Order: sequence, then C-alpha cells, then structure tokens
Amino acid sequence: MAIPYNKLRVQVDLNAIRHNYRQLSTGSGNTFAVVKADAYGHGLIPVARALAEEGADTFAVGTVGEAVHLRESGCTGRILSLLGPVDSDDYAALAPQRIIPFVGNWEQLVRLKETAAQNATPESPLEISLKFDTGMARLGFHLEDVPRLLSVLTDAPGLKPVMASSHLATADEPDNWAFAREQGDIFQAVLDALRHGGLDVEGNLANTAGILAHGTLHHQGRRAGIGLYGCNPFAGTEHESLGAELRPAMEVTAPVVEVHPLAKGRSVSYGCTWKAPRDCVVAIVATGYADAYSRGLSNRGSMCLNGTRVPIAGRVCMQLTAVDVTDLAESGHGVQVGDQVHLLGGRGPGKITPEELADWWGTITYEVFCLLGLNPKEYR
Ligand SMILES: *Cc1c(COP(=O)(O)O)cnc(C)c1O
Repeated sequence: MAIPYNKLRVQVDLNAIRHNYRQLSTGSGNTFAVVKADAYGHGLIPVARALAEEGADTFAVGTVGEAVHLRESGCTGRILSLLGPVDSDDYAALAPQRIIPFVGNWEQLVRLKETAAQNATPESPLEISLKFDTGMARLGFHLEDVPRLLSVLTDAPGLKPVMASSHLATADEPDNWAFAREQGDIFQAVLDALRHGGLDVEGNLANTAGILAHGTLHHQGRRAGIGLYGCNPFAGTEHESLGAELRPAMEVTAPVVEVHPLAKGRSVSYGCTWKAPRDCVVAIVATGYADAYSRGLSNRGSMCLNGTRVPIAGRVCMQLTAVDVTDLAESGHGVQVGDQVHLLGGRGPGKITPEELADWWGTITYEVFCLLGLNPKEYR
C-alpha cells in the first residue's frame, strides 16, 4: 500500500530496529514485536523478518487480515491479532493460519466457541488471548466478568486461552503514573482470578513505556511498538535516560527541483503567507501533502539540507514545498537541483528527529511514521 509515482522516499534502517529490539528485550519476560499498521509505516514483512532473526517469536498486528498476510509471508512465530475477529472472513482464517486473536466481548467469544467446535480439536486447539479493560475503556472484559468467562470456557473444548492482556493508557506520562499502577493492580487481580480458576495464561500488559519505566508491570510478555522504531516515549522529560539508547530507523527524503532568488518583500506559494524578509534564495522540493507530508507544516516545519536546517517558506502544496535556503546559499554551500533534502533524519546538527517533526505537525511520532510510511520504501 504505497503512494505511487511520487519522489519522496522512505529509508528504513533494519539494523536500528534490531538494535532497538535488543534494548527492549533486557529484563524478565518475552518481548513481543508490535508490527501493526505496516510496522508503524516501516514495512510489515521486512521488519518482521529482521526481528525474527533477532530472536522475536511473537508478533502483534491489528486486524486478522494483517495477520494472514504476515503468516503467508512465511512467518513461523506466534501471530496475535490485537483487534480480534470482526467479520466472518476473519473468523474463518484463525484456525487454518494459527492466529491468536485478542477476544474482548461475549459475542466474539461465542462465535469463537462455534469456530473452534468446527475447526479445532483439543489436541490442536484454537488459541486465544483474553483481553481485559483495566482503565483504557476501549475494548475488553472486566475483572467482574472472570467467573462467567471461566464457566463459558469450561465447555469450549477446542478453544484454549493462552494469554491474558490489557493495555496501559498513561505509561508514557510520568505525571499520570499512578493511573498506570492502578491498572497494574487490576490486571494482577485479573491474572490471579484466572489462574485460581485453573487457566494457565501468559500475562502481558506493558507497551514500550511500560517496558522502559515499569518493571513491576512486565509479567510474562511485553508488547513493544514505538520503541522498536526508535522513539523514546520519555524524550524531553526528566526520565529521558530510560530510552536514550533507542535509535530512529526511518529517514525521509525528497529532491530539490528548482532553486531561485526571491527579492525582499516577494512571497512564495498559495495565499502569499510567507514574504521574503530580505533578498532570499528559495529551493522548491518535490513533496507535499499528497505524499502525506502534512499541510499543517506550512510556515512551521523545517527540512535538513546538507546538514543544515532550512525552514519551510509558505504553504505546503499538494506535491511541492518551498524552503528558505538563503543562509546556505550565502555561506557558499550552493544548493543544487537534484540535492536530496531530509524531511526526517539527516546528518549533522540539522538532523530532524521524529519528535520534532511530530511537534511541528501537531501530532505524535506514531502518526508521523504511519503516514509518511505510506510512501515507497528502501531498506538498508
Ligand atoms: C500498539 C499497541 C502496543 C504498542 O504500544 P507502543 O506504545 O507503541 O509500544 C501495545 N499493545 C497494544 C494493545 C497496542 O495496540
């Protein structure tokens, strides 16, 4: 699912992702690789392969369709569908493709019982992960549901709960860690109740921020997402050192297609929103909001050209964006048509971090990766 015909290129450093996996695999418990949404835009299959080589044996995607795609690529590990089955195609795919769905409501559970009765046996059961809501309030059963769950599951022979899961809402917000600890306490009570009822489940609760900051919430499995792609959830906080070793894996470039002077007082791009404060030189870069480079970056963001920051001048257009390269031109570092500009990453002090780009964009690194990752990718 790439945006074709454009000039923007996404470069993914698989070694950085492998390094990040090792960083997130220290301590107790098994680190699951969260590769949903095309591995946060980094490319599902290449990322999953690299992580399998690094020892990852459990992969988490969103939809069952993504899980099937991953299985058909040759992935032999455990594959979790975090969303679980939604339609009949999803239910039908689970047993043949050995996909472990998260199950968070009674309708799903009843349909899974029927699916297991038809497609699975006690020797080769349909494995599921019971999903609990401990505070996120999106999906999941509650602690109070455990007795009924146990009774529904006692007469479901082909169905085998192998995991219990929940998701933290505030693990990356130090001011809100008390809420994460409360979720942790509720989750522990859920695990105790399930195990008391005879279910031998692997608990998993922590996301990247939970892995880095909350050792007591690790349990048997931990689900690492954003940290694999090199973002430190604590960047800019007093806890920054927790994720300081993580390395961004995505760089994004586009070529300069024209360089020209712009006399003092003249404007560039739609709406004439940027006027040259002095005699300037502008470079026109072949990228825009059609490549998922947000129009919200107009007059706010910067790119990195030959190691130097160059600010966006005027509005980001559909496939073109102007940057002010006056300082570079004056310092004798001529800017040429064909130069590659970094929208993300780059070398030297002008390098653009995912956190900065997200900040200018008015969003979080997750969304920046998912959107820019829709473009054609190259691997290093
Ligand atoms: C996306 C996701 C994760 C990964 O979270 P990060 O903050 O990216 O580490 C973990 N668990 C669930 C259920 C998710 O949906």
